[in-house]
Amino acid sequence: MATWDASAPHSIELPGLAVLVRGWLHGNIVRIGPDLVDTGYYTGFDALDSWLVGPVERIFLTHVHSDHSGGIAALRDRDSAVAVYGHPDAIAIVEPWDLERLWIDNTGQEIPRFSIDHPLPSRVDIGGRGFDVIPAGGHATGGVCFVDDAGVMISGDALWERGFGILNPVIDGPGVFDDAAGALDRIEEAAPRVVIPGHGAPFTDVRGALGRARVLLERMRDPKDLRRRAFMGAVGFWVLIDPTLDAEAIKARLADQGVDPTAPWVAPLLQKLGR
Ligand SMILES: [Zn+2]
Repeated sequence: MATWDASAPHSIELPGLAVLVRGWLHGNIVRIGPDLVDTGYYTGFDALDSWLVGPVERIFLTHVHSDHSGGIAALRDRDSAVAVYGHPDAIAIVEPWDLERLWIDNTGQEIPRFSIDHPLPSRVDIGGRGFDVIPAGGHATGGVCFVDDAGVMISGDALWERGFGILNPVIDGPGVFDDAAGALDRIEEAAPRVVIPGHGAPFTDVRGALGRARVLLERMRDPKDLRRRAFMGAVGFWVLIDPTLDAEAIKARLADQGVDPTAPWVAPLLQKLGR
């Protein structure tokens, strides 16, 4: 489990902002003044109270997957005036609550229903700081990165220190590979000094991360490789959502979804997850 869920949530302070790093079930939350970028998964929200010093005014979304948008409903319950900003393409799947394109169908994940109030313009003020909004599709419909004038980038799942969020051409269309490549190109053009990813600690070796991401993207273009990675990620989420799942239950669920539970990657993964 250690590699899947980074110990306890911990806060990392950068000049003028704070990053709550919360492992894999919960995407990171960035706090800049009274504003947040992303909100984590919907569970465990009460634990954030001490970190959330003061009321939240606005929420800016890197994308709408459950581990980033799940906390919106809880924040709105506390203060209905909280305003939510997302890319127009994200609004287009949130408004009709398209469970497939929100990646809720078939993943075992949930998101309390929410709405997005405002489309993201190409430049936004987040907590008194100007950020360019960089379209970064591929992993998610309506995915974006935010980068400020000092070169601080909030990348969501478009770029991590080691890789990026899985692609789903079945749901999001065959264009996801080129979209992800375009996102990496735009991140490179923006030349960030430090990247705050959607999962894991902030990092500064952006060139190295981009190199690794491009190698990974080429591998993902092989459908067999992509399918294996997708299910490896899915199994990780299953046990984070339901820690009581044992090896037999996981294998049965894989078989249900048409995956051979005796495939060579399954046993090492179960071991890594402590099953
Ligand atoms: Zn995601």
